[in-house]
Amino acid sequence: MTLASTITALAAAAALLGGGAAAYLSPHLVKLLQVRRLRALCRRRGVLALTFDDGPGTYLTPRVLDVLARAGGRATFFPLGHQASAAAHVLDAIAAAGHEIGCHGQHHLHGWHVLPGAALRDIATGYASLARWVPPDGLFRPPCGKLTLPTAWHLRRRGAALAWWTLDSGDTHDDMPTPQQVEDRLAREGGGVVLLHDFDRQRPDADARHAFVLETAERLLRRARSMRLTVCRLGDVLRTGEAHGAGLSPAEALR
Ligand SMILES: [Zn+2]
Repeated sequence: MTLASTITALAAAAALLGGGAAAYLSPHLVKLLQVRRLRALCRRRGVLALTFDDGPGTYLTPRVLDVLARAGGRATFFPLGHQASAAAHVLDAIAAAGHEIGCHGQHHLHGWHVLPGAALRDIATGYASLARWVPPDGLFRPPCGKLTLPTAWHLRRRGAALAWWTLDSGDTHDDMPTPQQVEDRLAREGGGVVLLHDFDRQRPDADARHAFVLETAERLLRRARSMRLTVCRLGDVLRTGEAHGAGLSPAEALR
C-alpha cells in the first residue's frame, strides 16, 4: 500500500468516525499527502521558495527585502490581517518589489483550538484586511498549519490554494538550529518551500532571532545558486501544470 492510498484509507476511516474526529483528522491527513507531493515537486523541478509568515515587521521585513533584492530572488509573504494597516507601507514595498503576498488570517487563530465559526470569521476578516494586496482567492497559509473540515471547505470554495511548507527553518523554536543546518537540509532535500518568520520579536533574544532569519535567508539563496535551483514564489510553483496533476492547485485543494 502506497502512502497516498494509506492516507486516503485513513481519511475515509476518520470520516466514518463521525463529525468531530473527521473535522480534524481528514484535513490533517490531506495536509500530509499534499506536503509530500509538494516536496517531490520542488525536488523534481529544482525549486526553492522562501516564505515569511506573521509579519510584516517594520524592523525585520525591510531587511528581508534587502536580502532578497541583493540576491535577485522573489519570495512569498503571509502577513497577519490585524497588522496590515499599521504597516501598510511595508506591504506596499513587498508588492512593489514583485514578491507575492498571501493571507495568514486576521489574528493567527489555531484552527483546532477555536470553534469553526471563529476560525472562519478570522480567515474572512484576514482576507478583507489584506484586500489591497491579496486577491480573494490568494494563497492561504493556515496558522500553525492547522485546518478543520469547515475551514478547508471554505478555502476550497474561495479557490484559495493551501500554502504548505516542506522545510521549517526553526526560527520560532525554543531550540533554534544554526543557519548552516538549515542550509544543509535544503541541500539534502534538493529544493523545497522554506518557512521563516518576518515579524518583529519582542523577547530577550529578539536580536539573535532576527539575525538568524536574515542569515538563513541569505545562505539559502546563495546555496540555491550553487545548486542551480530556481528561486521563485510559492504561487509560481503551485501554478505549474505539474502541481495541478499532483492535486496541489486551488481547485483540487481538498482532493
Ligand atoms: Zn504563523
